[in-house]
Amino acid sequence: PAGRIELLQTGPLMPMIETQLTEHFLVHRLDGEGGDAVLASVGPRIRAIATGVGATARRRVTADLMDALPNLEIVSNFGVGYDSVDAAAAGTRGVVVTNTPGVLDDEVADLTLALLLAAIRRLPQAERYLRAGKWPGGAFPLTATLRDRSIGIVGMGRIGQAIARRLEGFGRPIAYHSRRPAADVDYPHYPELLALAGAVDTLIVIVPGGAQTHHMINAEVLEALGPRGVLINVARGSVVDEPALIAALQDGTIMSAGLDVFAHEPNVPEALIALDNVVLLPHVASATQLTRDAMGQLVVDNLLAWASGRPPLTPVAETPWPPAKKA
Ligand code: NDP
Repeated sequence: PAGRIELLQTGPLMPMIETQLTEHFLVHRLDGEGGDAVLASVGPRIRAIATGVGATARRRVTADLMDALPNLEIVSNFGVGYDSVDAAAAGTRGVVVTNTPGVLDDEVADLTLALLLAAIRRLPQAERYLRAGKWPGGAFPLTATLRDRSIGIVGMGRIGQAIARRLEGFGRPIAYHSRRPAADVDYPHYPELLALAGAVDTLIVIVPGGAQTHHMINAEVLEALGPRGVLINVARGSVVDEPALIAALQDGTIMSAGLDVFAHEPNVPEALIALDNVVLLPHVASATQLTRDAMGQLVVDNLLAWASGRPPLTPVAETPWPPAKKA
């Protein structure tokens, strides 16, 4: 109908999101039949974007895309990580970017502990052993343990703190690295990642993706972590130098790894799949019905708040609300 705000959807989103978007907005699809041609025809009328990474909606919101949308005001991103949106470019254009923080912290932290235990106690390997009928031939080999480990968390934000709270229940010492000490957090803070890697034997990575954290887990950090080392990455594939990690797992520089995210998802290197000392998950940390529904509702609610003249609920740090003046 006339008068409805026109919105660009960059790729498939959950049905519960798409249903509500079409109810409230005039939706144009960038992944539709016309592809980018839609930009030429409706670009100037678009005032909002709904987007998200993941196996399907992979189209990035770049400065170039925003340049084709001169009246864009808001980008609502599915996911707390918004490295697929150029938020700095949005900020200079007076466009607000929203994400889905908070509603997934506990879910992601739960999965992180599951992945940590799976990597240390070799749970997938043990299950494969049973299913392969090897148990009658002898007990599954003894494994490493969490009991004698010290944990370093890389990133002590909302999710890092939810992980730390769980780890306290496991009674293991915790330290962390971030650029600045986190408020109201008493664990030892390491301003240098390399020093943290040298001080612990277990690293859990939960920082944002993007240029600032690109390959921060490199060969040097893995070397410092050492032969007892376990690396858990639930952040973004870009944070870890994947070839360096593969080499470190192959030659025993570290003991094992648990990975939920990869450099080129959904493609996982054959070299990783061939290794027995790594547990691999297909980016599922927040992937439960309950939590994905909560994330989806926040994507919609940010758009509805903005559309009715209220402040967006969860703007990202680069685009505070009210927006900076257009340059
Ligand atoms: P927060 O913004 O609450 O926390 C981010 C933390 O990372 C802060 O402690 C921050 O501290 C630190 N950090 C940021 N940049 C750097 C840097 N360059 N070097 C060192 N530390 C840094 O984010 P959340 O906890 O909500 O989420 C973290 C990330 O987890 C998301 O951005 C997302 O990419 C990922 N994630 C992955 C999921 C999955 O499915 N696997 C699910 C959910 C989230 P400081 O600024 O002081 O450096």
